[in-house]
Amino acid sequence: MSGEPGEAMAHQAFDTILVLDFGSQYTHLITRRLRELNVFSEMLPCTQKLSELKFTPKGIILSGGPYSVYEEGSPHVDPAVFDLNVPILGICYGMQELAYRLNPDNVIAGTHREYGHASLKARSVDGHVDRLFDGIEDSMRVWMSHGDKLAALPEGFHTVATSDNSEYAAIGHESKHIYGLQFHPEVTHTENGTTLLKNFAVGICGCKQDWTMQKFLEEAIAQIRQKVGEKGQVLAAVSGGVDSTVAAALMKEAIGSRFWAVLVNNGVMRLNECEQVHRDLSEALGINLTVIDASKEFLDGLKGIDDPEKKRKFIGGKFIDIFEAEAEKIEAAAASDPAKAGKIGFFMQGTLYPDVIESLSFKGPSATIKTHHNVGGLPARMTNGQGLQLIEPLRSLYKDEVRALGRALGIREELVMRHPFPGPGIAVRILGEVSPEKVEMARQADHIFISEIRKAGLYNQISQAYAALDPSRAVGVMGDKRVYGYIIVLRAVTTTDYMTAEAFNFPWEFLQRVMNRIVNEVHGVCRVVYDVTSKPPGTIELE
Ligand code: GLN
Repeated sequence: MSGEPGEAMAHQAFDTILVLDFGSQYTHLITRRLRELNVFSEMLPCTQKLSELKFTPKGIILSGGPYSVYEEGSPHVDPAVFDLNVPILGICYGMQELAYRLNPDNVIAGTHREYGHASLKARSVDGHVDRLFDGIEDSMRVWMSHGDKLAALPEGFHTVATSDNSEYAAIGHESKHIYGLQFHPEVTHTENGTTLLKNFAVGICGCKQDWTMQKFLEEAIAQIRQKVGEKGQVLAAVSGGVDSTVAAALMKEAIGSRFWAVLVNNGVMRLNECEQVHRDLSEALGINLTVIDASKEFLDGLKGIDDPEKKRKFIGGKFIDIFEAEAEKIEAAAASDPAKAGKIGFFMQGTLYPDVIESLSFKGPSATIKTHHNVGGLPARMTNGQGLQLIEPLRSLYKDEVRALGRALGIREELVMRHPFPGPGIAVRILGEVSPEKVEMARQADHIFISEIRKAGLYNQISQAYAALDPSRAVGVMGDKRVYGYIIVLRAVTTTDYMTAEAFNFPWEFLQRVMNRIVNEVHGVCRVVYDVTSKPPGTIELE
């Protein structure tokens, strides 16, 4: 994976802790916690051949995992891990793996499983406190989740912490920097878990804590320049969302107007959004942006389609056609401009680290590790490496790091904190067939809802919010006249990972105010409802 086209190779510029993933649901938290400590960390599957690494990590962490090391077919680390001569920390399965490697008899199924809190004594039998526990009180609450245990101390190791149930809650090698923990320091339920990871990464591995977005920015610019060359040009589609805006601003910093951004107005964007994106990208950030108004083509094509999947397919397909036609024009212009005089050789995408992690996670001994496609149906020639080479400058970053990078690039706060907005836009926020009139109603209602949310200071407490249109007609009375009007569905959720979500708890007066404005200001609407469904069973979007 390292050195793949488009990767911003942060591990070449920053001290890196390599996390090898054995399939634990907490593995990504290890990289998260380290990065919060300003130590760069990258995750790879446990099957990674270490001789194929394109960098030398300062330390290696073996994650937890659902398997039992002694079972046939369970995953094992490349034995070369011990030859790299860098500190190693095994967490749960990772520790069991270290012990098993030295002697398969070292790991057995425990007589009772241990899930949840345990009280840890951080000192060895001889009363010595290991540097792994520096600055930590000698008794701490830790979080365990295991059924297997060490039957004996592996040769050359001593105990550095114990718990009531685990004689070997933490072990360390006598002379080498190899450690094992039975508990999970990466979860917030473990007290001082972050200090422990810091002791390992900074104290024992000697990592510099220089992973900041300011520093990343400098490195990323240098890497982009090197990759693209002096004349190389880069093309991208932008949406006005956080990721593509930050990526575009970064490209502009690196290569100026040799970066070409294209925004396609698909007719189902939010109120004034196209103009706003133009102001943000072109005027405020100086990005070389082309806006194509294809709203009529999209809206015409959406006529008669009421199936949400078909809507998505149509919008995605049309987008490709339009983008590709524009790309050809840009390519011709770029090639003939003597000031730029290079052909477009790269296609930029705002892929983030969670997508990369998702494709790298260890899925089981027999499962093939799936390759990631974040492309969403972009023309093959743009991403298959034959026509245009892929460049993904945000590939190492988590969402909040992208936001921090956006701030470092001077992007205004409101944009940096923007909620996600789906590609098919308002089209999937109108149940059933889309018409220009319905888009207008949904757009107006959405604008009122979001403006009121901002006015009430609630925007950053909410993860995603919108108004959708239900095309069934409800009866109402307006100005003494009986009317039939559409129903507006308000949706606002909070979530950390978008996998599960809860409806936001608005004050009643707030909902009343929004209802009042919508029925008064949006012609054709006579009811407003608030969707209180959680995810699951609901989804965040309505269709
Ligand atoms: N499956 C192993 C056990 O039950 C490891 C669990 C883990 O890594 N959390 O002990």
